Amino acid sequence: GPILQATGLTKRYGGLVANSDISLTVNHGELRGIIGPNGAGKSTFFKMLTCEVPPTSGTIMFEGQDITGKNVTDVCQLGLTKSYQVNQLFNRLTVRENVTIAVLAELRGKFKLDLFANRSKIEGLNEQVEHTLELVNLAGRPDVPVSELAYGEKRRLEIGLALANSPSLLLLDEPLAGMSPQERIETVKLLKSISRGRTMIIIDHDMDSLFELVERITVLQEGRVLVEGTPDEIKNNA
Ligand code: ADP
Ligand code: ADP
Repeated sequence: GPILQATGLTKRYGGLVANSDISLTVNHGELRGIIGPNGAGKSTFFKMLTCEVPPTSGTIMFEGQDITGKNVTDVCQLGLTKSYQVNQLFNRLTVRENVTIAVLAELRGKFKLDLFANRSKIEGLNEQVEHTLELVNLAGRPDVPVSELAYGEKRRLEIGLALANSPSLLLLDEPLAGMSPQERIETVKLLKSISRGRTMIIIDHDMDSLFELVERITVLQEGRVLVEGTPDEIKNNA
C-alpha cells in the first residue's frame, strides 16, 4: 500500500506558482525518481513533503496520517527524512563524530529526551554508528575531519546522517550532483544497497543513473506533473 500520498499540492510564492496541483502516490519499498528542468519545482515539492514550507493548498498523507501543516521535527520523527546537504556537516568534527551526533539526535527525539531511561539504546550507540559508517562506505575513515574529506565522501556522509534517523521514507535531492563518473557509479551501487527495505524518492539530473536505479519516474515541468511511468515508458516518450 502507499507510504506517501500527496494530493493536489500547490505552492505559490506571490504571483509565482512553484507547484501546481501535484498528486503523487509512492508505495512501501518503492524507489521513485523525479526529474525535470531547473525551476520545474522539484525542490519546492520536497520542501512541502518534509514540511519545511506549507503548501498553499493540497494534502500530504504519510503512513496513513495527515501531516499537512506539521513541522520538520515531527515529520522527521515519524520517519520522513531528507538527506542533509554538504553545508550542514560539522567541518571541524570527524566523520564518526558527525554520525554520532545524528544518531544521538534521533535517539533523543524517539525517547522524548530521556536518554538515561533508555541506557541500553545509548550503550548500543557505537554499534549503530559503525553500522551507519558501513552503509555509506566510510568505515575506513572514521577519524578524518570532515574538512579533509573528498567531495564524494562528504556526499556519502550526508546520506549517512540521514540514515542515522532510520527513516522509512528517505528523500534525496541530487545525490549524484558534482560527482565524477566513477563516484556516480559507486554511489548508485551504494544507493541500491541501502534501498533494501526502504522507500526512497530521488531527484537527479543524471537520467542514466536514475533509469538504472528507480522503478518509476515522475517528470515535472513548470510546476506540474508532465508524465509518470517506468524508466522504459519515460524513455520511449522522450
Ligand atoms: P527546481 O528544484 O526544479 O529547480 P524549485 O522548486 O527550486 O525548482 O523552484 C521552482 C520555482 O519556484 C522557481 O521559479 C523558483 O525561483 C521559485 N521559488 C522557489 N523557492 C522560492 C521562494 N522561497 N520564494 C520565491 N520563489 C521561489
Ligand atoms: P536549491 O535548488 O538547492 O533549493 P536554490 O539556489 O534554488 O537552491 O534556492 C536556495 C534557496 O532560495 C531555497 O530556500 C529556495 O526556496 C530559495 N529561492 C529559490 N528561488 C527563489 C526566489 N526566486 N525568490 C526567493 N527565494 C528563492
